[in-house]
Amino acid sequence: MNRPANPHTLLQPRPPSPLQEIHDERFERHGVRLLLKRDDLVHPELPGNKWRKLAPNLRAAVEGGHPALLTFGGAYSNHLRATATAGRLLGLPTVGIVRGEELARRALNPSLAQCVADGMRLHFVSRARYREKADPALPAEAGAADAYVIPEGGSNPLALSGCAELGRELAGAADVAGVPADVAAVACGTGGTLAGLAAGLGPGQRALGVPVLRGGFLAGEIRSLQTAAFGAPLGNWSLAEGFDHGGYARVPADLDSFAADFEDRHGLPVERIYVAKLLYALVELAATGAFPAGGTVAAVVTGSPYDTA
Ligand SMILES: *Cc1c(COP(=O)(O)O)cnc(C)c1O
Repeated sequence: MNRPANPHTLLQPRPPSPLQEIHDERFERHGVRLLLKRDDLVHPELPGNKWRKLAPNLRAAVEGGHPALLTFGGAYSNHLRATATAGRLLGLPTVGIVRGEELARRALNPSLAQCVADGMRLHFVSRARYREKADPALPAEAGAADAYVIPEGGSNPLALSGCAELGRELAGAADVAGVPADVAAVACGTGGTLAGLAAGLGPGQRALGVPVLRGGFLAGEIRSLQTAAFGAPLGNWSLAEGFDHGGYARVPADLDSFAADFEDRHGLPVERIYVAKLLYALVELAATGAFPAGGTVAAVVTGSPYDTA
């Protein structure tokens, strides 16, 4: 059931996203250069790591002639929203399995409303059923038996290969600082972006992940993701724990004002769920001397604030 080739730019290779140096005294005071890897600009309609992770999967779905995309998420999942957007742009129906039966009876939050506006059909399941999301019967139960299935958070081997390209861009980018950054820092949900990024970096570079969920389970997950994608854990990476600010999608007032201040200083729109926590962590780490003087840190801007209007 092959379809005619879909020419959409979502499926095509993209030029490297911009790398910008910014001047921030909270880093300069410690002799550290801060770069922003503007992955929020990598694709105009599907920014950031969502494009990195989804694009190889979208190609596979289109090439495989699948009639729909199906994925999983909680009520505030950026991944669910990105999949809905991708489906709209490609003209592929999308189905979202959403955690929490009770949500079916409530008004949709802005994130889920955006999914529906993009044409996603939501299928609400109980928390117990959601935990069985690897069950091959679930797509049929949701009325989408032949759909291309993307796991929760979008982190599968193809997604990691897309993020390895981000690492390779940072390995090859000596244009701003004269040398590639020593540290590539990224906020982590599932850790798939960090897992792929670390694999693409060059020798002498390391990846630093800032988990936005509470837990301490992430290092093991990243090793399994890398083993599934590349055959073994690899790359030089570590996690900076303790910057979750209370957990996923929690944005306490001090974090919000930190992000607003960063926006004022640098004119960068700061996405609150991930990017704000990354930048906050980097400022704190710089203050405690975690980055050696003379070094360069590239913060990956993995997304932009979304419009709820
Ligand atoms: C989804 C998302 C992440 C997390 O990516 P993982 O690969 O799940 O770790 C980070 N930043 C932004 C802006 C995101 O939307």
